[in-house]
Amino acid sequence: MKAAKTIIAFLLFAAITARGQAPTARAQAPTAGTDAKMNTFVSTLMGRMTLDEKIGQLNLPGAGDITTGQAGNSNIAKKIEQGLVGGLFNIKSVEKIKEVQRIAVEKSRLKIPLIFGMDVIHGYETVFPIPLGLSCSWDMAEIEKSARVAATEASADGICWTFSPMVDIARDPRWGRIAEGNGEDPYLGSQIAKAMVKGYQGDLSGKSDIMACVKHFALYGAAEAGRDYNTTDMSEIRMFNEYFPPYQAAVDAGAGSVMASFNDVNGTPATANKWLMTDVLRHRWGFKGFVVTDYTGLNELIPHGLGDLQTVSALALKAGIDMDMVGEGFLTTLKVSLQEGKITLAEIDKACRRVLEAKYKLGLFGDPYKYCDEKRAATEIFTDANRSTARQIAADCFVLLKNQGNLLPLKKGATIALVGPLGDNKENMPGTWSVAADFSKSISLLQGMKDVAGDGTKILYSMGSNLDADSLFEVRAGMFGKALHHDSRPAADIIHDALTVAGQADVIVAALGESAEMSGESSSRSHIDLPQAQQDLLKALLATGKPVVLVLFTGRPLAIKWENDATPAILNVWFGGSEAGHAIADVLFGTVNPSGKLTTTWPQNVGQVPLYYNHMNTGRPLEGHWFQKFRSNYLDVSNDPVFPFGYGLSYTHFSYSEVTVSSKNLKGDQTLSATVTVTNDGQVQGKEVVQLYIRDLVGSITRPVSELKGFQKIDLKPGESRQVTFSITPRDLKFYNADLKYDWEPGDFVIMIGGNSRDVRSAKINWTK
Ligand code: BGC
Repeated sequence: MKAAKTIIAFLLFAAITARGQAPTARAQAPTAGTDAKMNTFVSTLMGRMTLDEKIGQLNLPGAGDITTGQAGNSNIAKKIEQGLVGGLFNIKSVEKIKEVQRIAVEKSRLKIPLIFGMDVIHGYETVFPIPLGLSCSWDMAEIEKSARVAATEASADGICWTFSPMVDIARDPRWGRIAEGNGEDPYLGSQIAKAMVKGYQGDLSGKSDIMACVKHFALYGAAEAGRDYNTTDMSEIRMFNEYFPPYQAAVDAGAGSVMASFNDVNGTPATANKWLMTDVLRHRWGFKGFVVTDYTGLNELIPHGLGDLQTVSALALKAGIDMDMVGEGFLTTLKVSLQEGKITLAEIDKACRRVLEAKYKLGLFGDPYKYCDEKRAATEIFTDANRSTARQIAADCFVLLKNQGNLLPLKKGATIALVGPLGDNKENMPGTWSVAADFSKSISLLQGMKDVAGDGTKILYSMGSNLDADSLFEVRAGMFGKALHHDSRPAADIIHDALTVAGQADVIVAALGESAEMSGESSSRSHIDLPQAQQDLLKALLATGKPVVLVLFTGRPLAIKWENDATPAILNVWFGGSEAGHAIADVLFGTVNPSGKLTTTWPQNVGQVPLYYNHMNTGRPLEGHWFQKFRSNYLDVSNDPVFPFGYGLSYTHFSYSEVTVSSKNLKGDQTLSATVTVTNDGQVQGKEVVQLYIRDLVGSITRPVSELKGFQKIDLKPGESRQVTFSITPRDLKFYNADLKYDWEPGDFVIMIGGNSRDVRSAKINWTK
């Protein structure tokens, strides 16, 4: 039926244009179809477009002064009417979007629909945990589901394009945007990239399918010193083996668009980097979608030192950028550059075609109001079902870091003192990038604990400290309405209140950590400790001698060595989203057994950074105990992290058998099976992430001491055992060599399986070609 409609619409369009009438892009246009149809449609449309209209498609301004009912009077409306706008972003509400789309499809000459984007990063109104938290579920079905729910809600509110997934590998916890990615591992990052793209896009035909935008291409997470937007510099071998795989995985999964990163890559900012945007992205990887700059990324080429606006706009276009976010460098300079022979019409056409193709793929030419159904907005956003999905997924992302003496789960019926600046705070629960959220609707930990524990449990609350002693720091760490409820009394008085409350309790839950805006964009930190005011509070609480559970909120790995040494139980909860409070309480009271595993290494101190599990060996590795002279280690701290990559505890315990392999000597294209038996030898049912790592012992280039190559999340009843088998083929052994050739090399390999990257069982094998 849909195919028939498409053909009829296309024939109509072709007939009208053949007669030479000026076509509009709307009434006669098809929805999505085959590439050939799309090409013909776009070519015919472009045949009618003026140069200005073509350049207009490359222009992506912010929403500006658009307000519901007044869109027609906004500054942007005039430009839309003139065909000078390709899309808009971060407008919230289907009514507004519909009104703006109407200007494009009723008042502009060719009636080309606009594309509407938004930073729907970890949910829309129903907010899921921050991406770093989500990654700790290691559950691809759940991650895909979170993207699907986000797409459903966003599309019900008029959005057809999301600036997600963010797949930047990050090994530096100083960098605030580590919160937005999937951690330090390229394999896991690639699996997540695929799941997210699938969750958002489906096949792009449905009303809930929105286009993904993979970002920030490339290497944004490698900013020097962890300072946001800073320079990066790395070898191509490292780019290809360690940083590029998640971007490529997203492209392979069909992501419709890519966002250029702010930073430079090998000396040229990504936005002007032809090698990156054309040679790697299009020629090597076969990317067919369009590339958008990051916010004013084009204009920022000027302070990067590449020239004036006209020069950098031409450079960006030539490099392979198709759409200019916010800065209007393309809009204001490309025409002159064309006249002066600095760019070609073919280059403008190429970019314009890619933007139009994206609109075609989304079905906007067939129905520009495909995403503007007000009925959907009323029934599909922030539903009970979505909230309950968010609650369940959030609980699976929390990482139990310590649980001495099985202090957790908490017993219902006790008196519990909830203490800490994050204990009764709704606004910070959604975390960074919760553009569409209504903070008043998120669940605080206090509320969550009361709801889950029920009447028989007494929950007392006291704030205990401010987020930080420095109130100016608090202002910087509490932006975008994420209030911190500052208490201006002296710190000693605030702690005193908390101790009074703690004195009445059987157990203390300390809700401490970062505020939501202490991570995310432009939120780098040079210290990654718990703020001093909160350390003081924790010390005072521990000094009561009562059992203390630290519920740790954070958007990055923190340096919590002393806290870990001194506190019996620590549950890391990231920022859990709309349902954070309920989800945390579900875990605290044992309704859900925690199963999250870290996707970043947690260092002892910031001086160890970057500290990551898949490092090279060096010629003088520390073998045996710290300290050894003339070995690669520090005088003042061991090389160990506080928590290794892949680490996380459960309320039960899992034991691992030795690894058995199907063969110790393999040849060519054979498949190796590596098996362990995992047993739940505790008292409760639990999920375990069984992780496979490989070490390539000899290579033509240095190879990591360990690389994640597979994982399986299994669910075991108490006493139950399961054999877990991984199939390994030479494909899993491939890497980019010094000539950037992707291949595997014969030799000895260590196969390691365990519940984290440190505690593994291993077997050695040899593989010849
Ligand atoms: C961020 C992007 C984001 C864009 C649009 C930029 O500042 O780096 O991640 O998608 O703004 O809001």
